[in-house]
Amino acid sequence: MVFETEDTIAAIATPYGRSALGTIRISGSDSFPITSKVFVARNDSAITPYRPTLGRILTQSREIDEALLIYFQKPHSYTKEDLIEITCHGNPLILDQVLGSLVSAGARHAKPGEFTYRAFLNGRIDLVQAGAVNDLITADSVYQAELALNQLEGKLSRRFQELRSGFIELISLLEGNIDFSEEQHYNFIDKTETNRRLNELIAQVEGLLGTFERGRLIREGFHVALVGKPNVGKSSLFNALLEESRAIVTAIPGTTRDYLRERMTLGNFLVQLLDTAGVRESGEEIEQEGIRRTRQVIAKADLILFVLDGSGVPDDQDTALWQETEGKDRFIVWNKSDLSGFRESDWAGEASMRVSAMTGNGIQELRSRIQKHMEERVRFNGEDFLISNVRHREILESALLSLRRAGESVKKGMSEEFAMVDLHQALGKVGEITGDVTIEDVYQHIFSNFCIGK
Ligand code: GDP
Repeated sequence: MVFETEDTIAAIATPYGRSALGTIRISGSDSFPITSKVFVARNDSAITPYRPTLGRILTQSREIDEALLIYFQKPHSYTKEDLIEITCHGNPLILDQVLGSLVSAGARHAKPGEFTYRAFLNGRIDLVQAGAVNDLITADSVYQAELALNQLEGKLSRRFQELRSGFIELISLLEGNIDFSEEQHYNFIDKTETNRRLNELIAQVEGLLGTFERGRLIREGFHVALVGKPNVGKSSLFNALLEESRAIVTAIPGTTRDYLRERMTLGNFLVQLLDTAGVRESGEEIEQEGIRRTRQVIAKADLILFVLDGSGVPDDQDTALWQETEGKDRFIVWNKSDLSGFRESDWAGEASMRVSAMTGNGIQELRSRIQKHMEERVRFNGEDFLISNVRHREILESALLSLRRAGESVKKGMSEEFAMVDLHQALGKVGEITGDVTIEDVYQHIFSNFCIGK
C-alpha cells in the first residue's frame, strides 16, 4: 500500500468506546498550525515541545472538551515528523468531534498503519520493526508480546543487518578483485577466504532459520489437537479446556469447516485448540471423511491430547487412531473419570492423565501439564532473536539457496562473477526483510571502506 506522505494525517489512536481517556494523533508538517486552530492552551500559555499542555478544544467557538496536548517536534517523534497527541475524555462523541475539527482545519483522516508507514519511510524503524508494532498490539500471550517487543527494539533487525554487512563485505571484496586486480595486480580476497566467509554466512542463515520453529510456536501459538474415536468426549473436553480461558482472547472466525479451532491463553502461551468437527453419522464414506479430517488435524498439531473413554475398554479403533499419531508429541487423556466403571489402564505403555470433562475434575491438572510441555519445548528466555514470521523464513531459505549456489561455483573454480550474482540475490532477499535498498550499500561500502583512491 502506498500512501500520500506530504500531507498531515490525524486519527483516533485508542479503541472506539467509552473510557476514561482517549487519544488523537496528528502527524505531518502542518500538525502544529492545524492543531493551533482547534486547541487553546490554558492561560494562553505557549506550547512547548515535549511538555504536556492543558487546554480546551474549541470548534466554531464552541468548547468540546478539556484536553492535554503533547507536541513531539520532528525528528524526535514516532514518525520523525511533527507529531501531536491530544488526550481528552474517552467518549467517541467527543473524539469524533475533535478529529472532525482537525480535519476541517486541514488534516486528512489517516489510513490503517499510516503512522507506522511514515516511521518506516523516514527511517526510524525498518520493515521488521514495523511488523513488530502490529505483532505487539495484537499479541494474545505474554511471550508473543515479549518477542514482538524484542523485534520492535531492533534486536532481530540488528541480526539481519549484521548478515547484510557480511554479504556486502564479501561482495565488495569480490567486486574489488574483478574491477581492480587486472590493473593493480592485487587480489582483495582469495578462494580459501571466499570459501571460509561463505560458509560462515551459510552458518549464520542456518542459525537464524533454526530458531523459526520456536518463534512460530510463540507467534502462532501451539496447535493442541484433541484426537480420539467418536463419543470419547473430545467436544466436551474442548469446551471444558476453553471454559475459563477463551474469554481472554479475541475469537476469530474459523477459516476451515474441516475442524473446530479456538484460541486460548495458557500460561505465557497462546494455544490454538483443535477438534475434528462433528462427523457423527455412520456409513463408509462419512467414516473415510472423518479419517481424512482427523489426519489433517494430526498433521497440524504440535501436541496431541489422545482421548480415551475410561468407562469402557479401548478397542481396535483406538489402537488404529493411536498409530496415526505416531511421531507426534502426545498425551493420553482418560476421560469420564466420574463414571463408576472408570478404569485407567497403562494402555500403550504411555503416561496418562485422568479427567472428567463433565465434572471438570483433572482439567486444571491437564492445563498445567500442557503448559509445562510448552515451556519445555520452547524454552523461551527472552532471547534477542527468534524468527517467528513465515515470510522471513521463506526469504531466508531462498537466500540460503543462493549462498549455497555461490559456494558451489567457488568450489568449482568458476569465475567470481557467478558467485557475485548469487550473493547479490541473497543480499536482495535479506533487504526485502528489512526494507533496505541494496545496490547503493555496495557502492558506498566499496568507496568508503577500501580507500581505493580513485
Ligand atoms: P466426542 O464425540 O468425542 O466429541 O464426544 P462428546 O464430547 O460429544 O461426548 C460424547 C458423550 O459422552 C456425550 O453424551 C457426553 O455428554 C459424554 N461425556 C463426555 N465427557 C464425559 C465425562 O467426562 N463424563 C461423562 N459421564 N460423560 C461424558
